[in-house]
Amino acid sequence: MDLSERVRQLSPSPTLAITAKAVAMRAEGLDVISFGAGEPDFDTPRHIKEVAIQAIDGGFTKYTPVGGIDELKDAIIEKFKRDNGLHYERPQILVSCGGKHSIYNLAQALFDKGDEVIIPAPYWVSYPPIAELAGATPVILKTSEEKGFRISPEQLREAISPRTKALILNSPCNPTGSVYNREELEALAQVILEKGIYVISDEIYEKIVFDDFPYTSIASLDKAVAERTIIVHGVSKTYAMTGWRIGYTAGPAGLIQAMTSIQSQSTSNPTSIAQKAATEALSGPQEPVGEMVQAFQKRRDLIVRRLNAIEGVSCFNPQGAFYAFPNFSPWLGRTHESQKLTNSVEVADYLLTNAHVALVPGLSFGAEGYQRLSFATSTENIEKGLDRIEEASSRLE
Ligand SMILES: *Cc1c(COP(=O)(O)O)cnc(C)c1O
Repeated sequence: MDLSERVRQLSPSPTLAITAKAVAMRAEGLDVISFGAGEPDFDTPRHIKEVAIQAIDGGFTKYTPVGGIDELKDAIIEKFKRDNGLHYERPQILVSCGGKHSIYNLAQALFDKGDEVIIPAPYWVSYPPIAELAGATPVILKTSEEKGFRISPEQLREAISPRTKALILNSPCNPTGSVYNREELEALAQVILEKGIYVISDEIYEKIVFDDFPYTSIASLDKAVAERTIIVHGVSKTYAMTGWRIGYTAGPAGLIQAMTSIQSQSTSNPTSIAQKAATEALSGPQEPVGEMVQAFQKRRDLIVRRLNAIEGVSCFNPQGAFYAFPNFSPWLGRTHESQKLTNSVEVADYLLTNAHVALVPGLSFGAEGYQRLSFATSTENIEKGLDRIEEASSRLE
């Protein structure tokens, strides 16, 4: 097949083989405990579903305006006012088919061939390919566990070249669970303003923070920073609505209009019914979110404690999202049946094959030596899975 240059350039996922193996093992009837989930294990709250059912029954099943219904845009505007003290008008909001689609539209509307996009690592797997599909060049900025997996203003300044168009900031971060505090954001914002780049702030995990971490959106620092910030958000993680596919963007009106044009020639409007449900999610009762976050915090405490108790494993304490990102690098060089483990993919493969536990290797996130474990799973699974990893550790030489 004579495929496009674009798709041939797309980097294949380094962990596809592991995922496929886990699926195959399950199909064989093996009891595989998966820590791979990238979504809440809770159900969408009832009151949100009810609104969607009413929308179907009421015949709200046709095209809507490309960029989303006013009712939802207003709920989004209200959310930013209430939670972040930010003021947007309708032309500054675009509703898309999930936060990923928002980022895709954004990249298509903002990047040209040769533009550089700064992406701190460990990063969400989709950022580099989305930038590349728009012709831009990802510039990966490594962070360390000692520095809380956060970039410093000095590091950012050094990475900026005349071709730099934007920085992608993801706080709380998938996969590390790291969150930037206000002071750290202020320091980064200074560099952003001084150099005149944009910041794409992926705030999809805003509501999933622990120990009452005071969340700050970089856009809320001041008006000048807000004008340089494009916020990407969505209902997937906060309201356990990954399947509904609603994400949204807030930013400069000119950019939002350009993104809307891109969307108008690809997907058109996001699903009408899902837009009604998202409106209810943002403006209805918020108690289910608090309950979910409490459950995540208990599981975080459990998984981090259990990981740190395993010989040769140390785990950063995530302040948000629902992932633990332990360092397994002391395992590299150890052997099992005279097979030496040499990288994170081999560690994941060892654990899958010998302990029937599925993790996502750090390599996929640009962080060799690490593994990602989602704790969007029951405490029973966490206990059982960690027992298995512990046992597998004792079998290594
Ligand atoms: C899940 C996720 C998204 C987007 O999810 P959608 O379901 O497309 O809304 C965006 N960024 C990060 C970091 C994520 O983990």
